[in-house]
Amino acid sequence: MSERESCDVLIVGGGPAGSSCARLLRRAGLDVLILDKSEFPRDKVCAGWITPQVVEELQIDTRDYEQGRVLQPIKSFIAGMGERTGRSVHYDKIVSYGIRRCEFDNYLLQRSGARLRLGEAWESMERVAGRWLVNGTISAALVIGAGGHFCPVVRFLGANLGKGERAIAAQEIEFEMTDEQATRCGVENDRPELYFCDDLKGYGWCFRKGNFLNVGLGREGNHRLAEHVHAFSGWLQSQGKVPADAPSRFKGHAYLLYSHAKRPVVGDAVLIIGDAAGLAYPESGEGIRPAIESGLMAAQIITAARGDYSKQRLSEYETQLEARFGERHGDSLASSLPESWKLALARSLMQTQWFTRNVVLNRWFLHADTAALRA
Ligand SMILES: Cc1cc2nc3c(=O)[nH]c(=O)nc-3n(C[C@H](O)[C@H](O)[C@H](O)COP(=O)(O)OP(=O)(O)OC[C@H]3O[C@@H](n4cnc5c(N)ncnc54)[C@H](O)[C@@H]3O)c2cc1C
Repeated sequence: MSERESCDVLIVGGGPAGSSCARLLRRAGLDVLILDKSEFPRDKVCAGWITPQVVEELQIDTRDYEQGRVLQPIKSFIAGMGERTGRSVHYDKIVSYGIRRCEFDNYLLQRSGARLRLGEAWESMERVAGRWLVNGTISAALVIGAGGHFCPVVRFLGANLGKGERAIAAQEIEFEMTDEQATRCGVENDRPELYFCDDLKGYGWCFRKGNFLNVGLGREGNHRLAEHVHAFSGWLQSQGKVPADAPSRFKGHAYLLYSHAKRPVVGDAVLIIGDAAGLAYPESGEGIRPAIESGLMAAQIITAARGDYSKQRLSEYETQLEARFGERHGDSLASSLPESWKLALARSLMQTQWFTRNVVLNRWFLHADTAALRA
């Protein structure tokens, strides 16, 4: 039997969204409990690429972090389309880092200062005497849904998970290379490689962090995803980028891009953050930064609400999400262009160094002109 517990805020999900939110709430003096179905350290299907803005927002001391953990500085990228040679773009400073999610998420969770209830899934939630009673044993004034794409709290608010949602489906594998495999790996440590699918419906990556290699591919919808992944990893092997004896058991996961998500994010004494709210950047699929930013925004709004957790008072959160990430407008102008035009245009643009550096990398992937969120 689990013990009865009481807290100001219960956060369901201890990923980057939940732990960032918890840390700020703890600093404001609130009593925070994080409930996660997994024991930590746990892995998460992810390429493990973050930008310097994430490091800044989380106030991570990189010297401290890299003690016993992988923190791969990145100063260049190769970006291409289909199976053509990509363009190499170099920077004179660190523009990204490679981390391992099993280490990164555990580091953030342990330093959040929240009480932890790990290895226990959210099962139920009901209103009792003006508070939430979760799993029949946890009493909380407010509940935050941070349970990722399949978060049970956003389902509780009425989201129809998986039904009619245009999710990104992705598969990934991460493994430690032997010294011998590492010498045969044709990918540079500080230079991830990105290859857009010929039909522009997604992209694959090959990303080396120290002796760890992360290979994956994500696409809109999961139609023949495994075939695309198989073809991509075969091509990487044929190019000498991935050792031929690399493991081949890819793991899959899904998530929503910001422009496609139509999930409720606010309820009476409930807020939804991170992947549960569908916040990943539409062009790159980067989800860690928006997850963290939503956690920080939610914490500030909760603190300012001073115990008034009505839906009306908390709706400021939705307004702040829109101010930060824009309106959720569904399809872009480009997506209404005929398919053949888009493909021809993309092919010729991707052959130019200017477009690859300034649009694909600086704007879409690095969000170089969007400063870190000040919490
Ligand atoms: C293949 C792939 C590659 C990606 N690569 C990148 C990348 O390189 N960079 C990037 O920025 N983003 C990347 N993303 C997106 C990124 O992984 C997510 O946006 C990010 O993990 C969202 O964080 P979160 O805290 O919202 O959710 P999560 O990290 O998913 O954490 C949710 C937590 O909730 C817990 N939970 C779930 N259900 C329950 C329950 N019922 N009860 C209790 N706890 C529960 C889970 O155990 C988990 O710990 C990638 C995604 C995929 C699929």
